[in-house]
Amino acid sequence: MAECIEREKVLSEIKSRFIDLISSDGDLYVNEGINRGLNKAIGIVENAPAADVRPERRGRWERFRCKGDRHDTFRCSDCGHLLWYVTKFCPNCGAKMGGKGGKSNV
Ligand SMILES: [Zn+2]
Repeated sequence: MAECIEREKVLSEIKSRFIDLISSDGDLYVNEGINRGLNKAIGIVENAPAADVRPERRGRWERFRCKGDRHDTFRCSDCGHLLWYVTKFCPNCGAKMGGKGGKSNV
């Protein structure tokens, strides 16, 4: 399974670690080597392809019954889509129901 990382956070971490290695009174050739390594690492991270990631939508089914109705109706808390039954995902917006941040009422 592919994992996602935040490019700017990785770059920040790499820079801070390389800067710790550079010594103001250190060997010029060593520091130059560290700088080359830093630039190479930054280039790798900056040129790494971005993943096609969308934030996961979460919601819950809200149960209600209109006056005179004989059956409950369920409304997606994320998009308002109405159904006569519940599903794990909203068929309209794709929100995952009952997961973290979206406790189901049913
Ligand atoms: Zn929905």
